[in-house]
Amino acid sequence: MTPATQRTRPALAAADPEIAALVTAEEDLQAETLRLIPSENYVSRAVLEASGTVLQNKYSEGYPGRRYYEGQQVIDQVERVAAERAKALFGVEHANVQPYSGSPANLAVYLAFAEPGDTVMGMALPMGGHLTHGWGVSATGRWFRGVQYGVRRDTGRIDLDEVRDLALRERPKAIFCGGTAVPRTIDFAAFGEIAREAGAVLVADVAHIAGLIAGGAHPSPVPHADVVSTTTHKTLRGPRGAMLLSRAEHAKRIDRAVFPGLQGGPHNQTTAAIAVALREASQPSFSAYAHAVVANARELADHLLARGFDLVSGGTDNHLILMDLTPKDVPGKVAAKALDRAGIVVNHNAVPYDERKPFDPSGIRIGTPALTSRGLGTGHMATVAEWIDRGVNAARTGHEAALAALRAEVAELMAAHPAPGLPTA
Ligand SMILES: *Cc1c(COP(=O)(O)O)cnc(C)c1O
Repeated sequence: MTPATQRTRPALAAADPEIAALVTAEEDLQAETLRLIPSENYVSRAVLEASGTVLQNKYSEGYPGRRYYEGQQVIDQVERVAAERAKALFGVEHANVQPYSGSPANLAVYLAFAEPGDTVMGMALPMGGHLTHGWGVSATGRWFRGVQYGVRRDTGRIDLDEVRDLALRERPKAIFCGGTAVPRTIDFAAFGEIAREAGAVLVADVAHIAGLIAGGAHPSPVPHADVVSTTTHKTLRGPRGAMLLSRAEHAKRIDRAVFPGLQGGPHNQTTAAIAVALREASQPSFSAYAHAVVANARELADHLLARGFDLVSGGTDNHLILMDLTPKDVPGKVAAKALDRAGIVVNHNAVPYDERKPFDPSGIRIGTPALTSRGLGTGHMATVAEWIDRGVNAARTGHEAALAALRAEVAELMAAHPAPGLPTA
C-alpha cells in the first residue's frame, strides 16, 4: 500500500520526505489523542484546502479597491467576501480580516486608540487574561501603563464593582474584557457601561468564544463594545488568523492601524480560509455545534466535581474548565505531562491566587471544542472525566502502566470518532 503521505501529498513526499513524514506524524497524533486544549480545534477539509492555495503567491498591501500592487482582480473579491461574511455573521458594520493573528490584532487596537505611555486596562494574565491585555512581559505592558483587574478569591469571578472603581480611578484609554482562562459568561453590557462612564474604548477580545457567539451559545459583545477582537482558529474553527470588528465610525482608524501601521501584505490564503470558516459558521449545523460544546463542558464539569476536582468558579458557562489540582496533590505540569503520555492533551495553567510559579503552576486548563468537533456528546463526558481522574491519580503515584492502559482506551474511542480534516486511513 502507498503510504498515506504519498497518497495525500505526493509532491511534498517526493520533494521533502522529512517534512512530509512529520506532517503525517502530526495527523496521526491529532487522530489518536483526546485533545482538550480549549484554544484548539479541528478545521474542516474545506478550510485546509482553501489555506493551501496559490493565493499564497500574491502581494496585496492595502485594502480591496485601494492596493499598492496590481493584479488584484481575484484577491479583492476574496477579501471582500471574507469581510462581508464576518459582518453578516456577527452583525457589525465593519470587519478587518487582515490581522496575522490575535496578538497583532490587539496591538493594532492599541495603535488605533492609544499613545505609548497611556494607561490601558485588562484582566491580569494569572487571573485568566491574555498577555496582550497589558501584562508586563508583553510589548503592551512595556509600552503602555497596564492596570489590571482580576477575579474574586471567594467566587473565582470578575468583580465588576472592582473593575468600575479601577476604571474611574485610573481613566484608561481602553478597557479589554475577555481572556484565555475565563470559564464564565462575560457581562459585556456591564463592561460597556463602565467603559462609557470612564471615557474608555471597550475592546471585547473574544478569541476563545467567537464560535460560541457566532452559534448563539454566548451573548454577543457587539451592541456594547467599540471594537471586537478575535482569532479565527479557536472555537470559530477557521485557519490561524484574526479579525477586528467594529462600528463604521472606527473603521478608518482600525484599518490604518493594521495597514500600514503594523503589517505589510495580508496572508491571502488565510483570508480565503477565514471566508470558508465564516460560511461554515453561518450554517444551522454550526449553531448546534456551539451549543453542544457548551453542553459537553457543563456535563464534564459536573462529572469532575463529583470526582472531587476543584474547578475555578465552581464550574463553567462556556467551553472551558480551569481546575486547581492542589487538593489532588499533583502540580499542574506533572499532571499535564502524565495525561499527555495517556493520549489526553491539556495544558498546565495558573489558577487565580496561585501560590506556585507561573512556569510550574497549580492548575490545568481543559475544554470541549475539539472533542465536540469529533462528534463526542454529553454521553461521553463521564468517561472523559473518569480518564482525567485516572490520569491525575497515576501522575501522583507515578503509575506508568496505568497511563499506557489509558492511552489504549483513548485511542479506541478516538478511532470510532474520526476528526474533521484528517485523512481516514
Ligand atoms: C488566543 C488569544 C489571543 C492571541 O492569539 P494568537 O493568535 O495566539 O496571537 C489573544 N487574546 C485572547 C483572549 C486569546 O485567547
